[in-house]
Amino acid sequence: MKKQLEPDTWLVTAGRPEQAGEPLNWPIAPASNFLAGGGKVYARDGCVPGWEALEALIGGLEGGEAVAFSSGMAAAAAVFDLLPAGAQLALPDDCYHGVSELANRGHARGAWSVERIAVEDTAAWAGALKTHDLVWLESPSNPLLAVADLAAVAGSERKPGALLVVDNTFATPLNQRPLALGADISLHSATKFIGGHSDLLCGILVAREEALLEKLRASRSVNGATPGSLEAYLALRGARTLSVRLEKSQASAHKLADWLESLGCIDRVRYPGLASHPTHDRAAAQLDGFGAMISFDIAAGAVAADAVCEATRVIRHATSLGGVESTMERRAAVPGQEHLPPGLLRLSVGIENWSDLRDDLAQAFTAAGLNVEEGDGT
Ligand SMILES: *Cc1c(COP(=O)(O)O)cnc(C)c1O
Repeated sequence: MKKQLEPDTWLVTAGRPEQAGEPLNWPIAPASNFLAGGGKVYARDGCVPGWEALEALIGGLEGGEAVAFSSGMAAAAAVFDLLPAGAQLALPDDCYHGVSELANRGHARGAWSVERIAVEDTAAWAGALKTHDLVWLESPSNPLLAVADLAAVAGSERKPGALLVVDNTFATPLNQRPLALGADISLHSATKFIGGHSDLLCGILVAREEALLEKLRASRSVNGATPGSLEAYLALRGARTLSVRLEKSQASAHKLADWLESLGCIDRVRYPGLASHPTHDRAAAQLDGFGAMISFDIAAGAVAADAVCEATRVIRHATSLGGVESTMERRAAVPGQEHLPPGLLRLSVGIENWSDLRDDLAQAFTAAGLNVEEGDGT
């Protein structure tokens, strides 16, 4: 669907009932099957009004058509489902661990081969597009916040039929539109910023090419990866406020990143908005905002980082991200993420007042025995 309004207006107005007497919002419609003869048949085949509205909303923002799934991983699996036998995949060295595992499992059973490429390495990604069937980028990446040059990679010569996918979860459709940069598919875990309240699982793929969209819808249907009506309702309801949530969260994230960088007890702050970020200029050119995710390394290591997580009172010690409430966890403690720096904490900045978040971190650092004096940041 074509978007003509500004994104913040579109988020509020798109995907609403149009007939006189209808409610302003699509009601939750628990239904598996529909009376014959009216076009809708069976819910798994894609016909719950709430999904259609969610798909119209996100598709319009990203300049394509959206297909909603039961989770971000279900959306990822639908893409992998398209691969020919013996396909060659290129995956980032840093990406969502579930996608990594999906790729590794297929590799282990001989379905495809997987090559890992550093997120920032534009030349290597461009090379992969010439030889691989699926080139999977995630930018900014989870959890290291590395930024790939999407337009440069997408503009490179391709193996016929090669698919370029960008996991756009961290950026959200407001900060980055991969299809406009040349990707074939943009993926969202709508569980995160789009839903925004840590109360649902939902995934979304956006693409332009009709044949590709048909294959993705067919995969969703046959694999039963359809979102429930309640989840579609919650994702759509959450998306209505995405622009105000994101604006506040990313402004706070930037201030917190600046502050964290000034502290001696932190080794390294990873936030694309910082001038010290290795590809800050690329991030500034590519993104409309630097996002609400920060990763930082507690110099004293894992034990101290765990103590920090346990000592916060405003920030919730929990996995996942993108909610109105700030959440933080030590990522190397997550199975499959042991390769990460042991003291790395990933913070998802919510919509609380930023000074309360700073004070909460400061008291947690002190409780963990860390020095909160400003240091040289090295
Ligand atoms: C959470 C996440 C996913 C997976 O989404 P689910 O909704 O949890 O299945 C994929 N990519 C990224 C970047 C994520 O953060």
